Amino acid sequence: MKTFVVLMGAPGAGKGTQAKKLEASLGLPQVATGDLFRANLKNETELGKLARTYMDKGELVPDEVTVAMVRDRLSQPDCVHGAILDGFPRTTAQAKALDELLNEFSAKIAIVPFIDVSQDVLVERLAKRAEIEGRADDNEETIRVRMEVYQSETAPLLAYYDEKGLLVKINGEQSIHQVTEDLTEVVQEVM
Ligand code: ADP
Repeated sequence: MKTFVVLMGAPGAGKGTQAKKLEASLGLPQVATGDLFRANLKNETELGKLARTYMDKGELVPDEVTVAMVRDRLSQPDCVHGAILDGFPRTTAQAKALDELLNEFSAKIAIVPFIDVSQDVLVERLAKRAEIEGRADDNEETIRVRMEVYQSETAPLLAYYDEKGLLVKINGEQSIHQVTEDLTEVVQEVM
């Protein structure tokens, strides 16, 4: 059986941190579109040059480009048993494309954990991360844009997955360890 997990949560909710922990505890690879784009940026690929123009502003990279990249990644041999998707899908079009893609692989989404964190805590965390990591898109203006894009483009996906009976809410304001425990438990139930 293949297990595809879609991790949802606002920027700063802890998706990346938790996806890495789940990768270790569940033995499924983390597929993070933000990381894939950043690797392309670093290697100065054509894809990276294109993605940069959007990422620097906090905007979304166009769906066709993102979907093609994910298709490529999920076709790699390490994804035969599934993957933990982090940062994808981010739009309704991407969610539909993912359904089709998984259909081609004779697979489907097993569960969609939503790491729930209040707006105040998110803003606080992102500001702190900006200070520590100095990620180029963690400045005040870009954070604001990313939050807005999340609200308008990505948050509607919560209802999309809830209607399919796949959404499970996880309290993201607990300790990192406790969040990992809760996530591992709900995913293991569907594996
Ligand atoms: P965050 O911590 O804000 O969730 P990510 O590392 O997931 O950030 O993504 C950083 C940037 O990469 C986004 O602001 C966007 O420009 C681009 N990106 C990542 N995933 C996607 C996606 N699924 N669709 C379009 N653009 C994306």
